[in-house]
Amino acid sequence: WSKADGRARWTLYDPDRGAHQMTRQLLATALRPALERGEFAVEFQPLVGLADGRVHGAEALVRWRHPRFGTLSPDRFIPLAEESGAIVPLGKWVLEESCRQARHWLDEFPSAAVFVSVNLAVRQVWDSDVVADVAEVLEATGLPPRLLQLELTESAVMGPAGRPLQALQALADMGVRIAIDDFGTGYSNLAYLSRLPVHVLKLDGTFVEGFRDPGGTRREADEKIVSAVVRLAHALGLTVTAEGIESAVQAERLRATGCDTAQGWYFARPGPPHRVVRMLREGPWPAGGPAVPV
Ligand code: C2E
Ligand code: MG
Ligand code: MG
Ligand code: MG
Repeated sequence: WSKADGRARWTLYDPDRGAHQMTRQLLATALRPALERGEFAVEFQPLVGLADGRVHGAEALVRWRHPRFGTLSPDRFIPLAEESGAIVPLGKWVLEESCRQARHWLDEFPSAAVFVSVNLAVRQVWDSDVVADVAEVLEATGLPPRLLQLELTESAVMGPAGRPLQALQALADMGVRIAIDDFGTGYSNLAYLSRLPVHVLKLDGTFVEGFRDPGGTRREADEKIVSAVVRLAHALGLTVTAEGIESAVQAERLRATGCDTAQGWYFARPGPPHRVVRMLREGPWPAGGPAVPV
């Protein structure tokens, strides 16, 4: 036995790793039946205009109400769904639920014109007929295309070997808005921003973390980055949404950068669709934030 062999055997019999693998396997094979049994739910988190304090839209975030493990966050099962291909039916279901919900909001609050923002996985946009699916769901739910926003990461937009997603233009031509999710965390060539039909940059939450810092250098640096991204986006005719706003201080500093909309626990946690309705009914927050966090 060489040292390397010993290590290989140890890896094979590591009980923690075995249990982890088993759970992954269990969850992966349970995905499709769980979808059929109706174990998934979509929660919505408001996207708030920093200039007017109004709810402009809401992001759809999927949860798995697992009968044994409780509510599972998407980080636990979306990667598994991508690997197994279950993301295609699951993603289409999320899209349908989200568009149906946005149609209700439109019926109840026509002047608010609240949009719904739906995450698309890499595999959904590269290995499925996403354009036909989106067209079909819009038709079935009667949601105007301008009230649907699709969130794609840079790696989904650029795909393998840096090839841009062709479906993007077709989606944009339909009138659907395209947002780049987790913007600033990848290593993409920024040229795609002016060449592809992209409408919104969703700035990753890590950029506003430093905004909490009362006087530190981290705060100064993060403010410079956010301000520069906002200027770049506006120069290209794009809007900017910032994620992960957890405090009034962060919201206030973010507003000063000229960022358009914000999302985070300070405004509202992800919740059931009626929570968005309640926020629409209560009207805009006076200073761009709630008196009492929702
Ligand atoms: P994301 O699209 O970047 O979504 C934002 C995440 O930040 C959500 O996590 C949200 O709950 C969380 N968040 C919101 N406000 C705050 C805040 O103030 N502070 C902090 N620390 N976090 C905040 P969640 O719901 O666990 O979703 C995680 C990721 O899973 C999402 O990241 C998205 O990439 C993916 N995901 C969620 N739903 C779907 C879906 O239907 N399809 C696909 N393909 N991916 C999804
Ligand atoms: Mg997202
Ligand atoms: Mg995001
Ligand atoms: Mg994120």
